[in-house]
Amino acid sequence: HAKANGRNSFQFFEAEMNTRAVRRQFVEGSLRRALKEDEFLLHYQPQIDLASGAMTGAEALIRWQDPDLGLIYPGDFVPIAEECGLIVPIGRWVLREACRQARAWLDSGLLAVPVAVNISALELRHEGFLEGVALILKETRLPPRYLELELTESIIMDDAESSASVLDALRTMGVQLAIDDFGTGYSSLSYLKRLPINTLKIDQSFVHDIATNTDGATIVAAVIGMGKNLNQRVIAEGVETYAQLAFLRTQQCEVGQGFQFSHPLPAEAFELLLDCPKDQQPRPLLC
Ligand code: C2E
Ligand code: MG
Ligand code: MG
Ligand code: MG
Repeated sequence: HAKANGRNSFQFFEAEMNTRAVRRQFVEGSLRRALKEDEFLLHYQPQIDLASGAMTGAEALIRWQDPDLGLIYPGDFVPIAEECGLIVPIGRWVLREACRQARAWLDSGLLAVPVAVNISALELRHEGFLEGVALILKETRLPPRYLELELTESIIMDDAESSASVLDALRTMGVQLAIDDFGTGYSSLSYLKRLPINTLKIDQSFVHDIATNTDGATIVAAVIGMGKNLNQRVIAEGVETYAQLAFLRTQQCEVGQGFQFSHPLPAEAFELLLDCPKDQQPRPLLC
């Protein structure tokens, strides 16, 4: 029964663990095995230019294919991997796999847009991080501009001084930088202005409200305006409906990402989207 529906059965399984510590230890052990046995995979979600409908990027999102529990989503294991430090080697795997895939897509002529990778606080603070990114780019022969790293406001602001120097070094390398879940943290706007950020991703909780709630619409419109003023590309996350898309277009938001266009897809399914002539693409991609 556990195999039948991964996401729920994992929670069910977790509920059987009598203490938090026991559960954590169990998941930690399973994560170590997952790394060794190569049980992680990436799904890719397109980012769509709202004016033209073209794909401008893709976000890589980790999943864990557990042999017993099925497909497990990051919400169920990334926080534990962060607590026990395993996010560092897992994040290294994600970066290498995303860069390898981006290079393969470039080589096959399928996709010439950046792939975005989520970075945890511990990874950014890890002393080998910059070197690791540089090495992976070199190994995979991926031009740095095809890699975008997504960081949240909290990750950056928690240690603003050291973040700033790492971010500067990444930009010098040519890697692109995005602020993820924008609006849920506590950025100082004047500080934000000084950071070398290419992309601002408006958190989906704000996007969710835009078509139904005037306050939500006002906030999103203000963030789009701010991003434009700071010369940042603005991505609306979690676009699920045509009404939300229509509003974002009236505000001249540049890019959207969400189920309205496509769910995150395994690489092979994502390639089918890329391979399809534009006028034959599945309906959700045509915006
Ligand atoms: P995120 O980076 O903000 O990623 C967006 C999440 O929203 C993804 O969930 C995606 O599947 C989901 N999403 C996309 N479009 C829609 C939509 O229209 N509606 C709704 N309701 N949701 C949508 P996912 O894949 O479960 O990932 C959750 C979070 O886990 C990510 O949030 C990110 O913070 C973290 N994460 C994912 N992959 C990695 C990774 O490789 N490394 C690290 N450190 N964190 C990761
Ligand atoms: Mg993200
Ligand atoms: Mg996000
Ligand atoms: Mg998030």
